Amino acid sequence: MSKFHCVCGNLIRISGLIPNPDEWKIISDIDFDHFEGLVDAENVYASSTSMFRCRNCGCLWVYWDGFDNPPQLYTPSCPSLARAAQRSYLDKIERRAGSADPLLTL
Ligand SMILES: [Zn+2]
Repeated sequence: MSKFHCVCGNLIRISGLIPNPDEWKIISDIDFDHFEGLVDAENVYASSTSMFRCRNCGCLWVYWDGFDNPPQLYTPSCPSLARAAQRSYLDKIERRAGSADPLLTL
């Protein structure tokens, strides 16, 4: 499965663009603690779990058991609040797009 529909109907692609703008990587503190000093980013990447965030409703789809198994859905407690927060976040990024690191000062 290279794409699926979120509960809101938005299409989420899990393959295609690299890096994927909808994909987030998460890693437990315990797994991260196995790394020390200078690390190979590929090793950290391989130890992480893939999560996809719906741009429309803010739902999170986490592939806890890899891509061969269905993702776990996490929904915002208040979808309208999540959308407002997302719009605010994206507005800040757009306003700061001209700076050296637009995400640094969010
Ligand atoms: Zn959605």
